Amino acid sequence: MAVHLTASTSRRSASGSLRSVPGERDEARRALLDAVEADLRAVEDALVRLDDGRYGRCDVCGQAIADEVLAAEPTARRCASCTEP
Ligand SMILES: [Zn+2]
Repeated sequence: MAVHLTASTSRRSASGSLRSVPGERDEARRALLDAVEADLRAVEDALVRLDDGRYGRCDVCGQAIADEVLAAEPTARRCASCTEP
């Protein structure tokens, strides 16, 4: 009985130590996953635009997006002048 209690107690504390600082870790994990999902959506969207022949064209003014903009950000949807606020 005593052995059993000790075993379950140590198991509980082991899983507890994995969850130390749960708030911060969960928040960071969620932020990282959100960032990856946003990137993935942007890439999927760029691939659709590539198939449609819209890739490299500004969504706002329809002009070609500069090569250096696409080189820096391959998923860019706006030209440099339409990106500026
Ligand atoms: Zn534009």
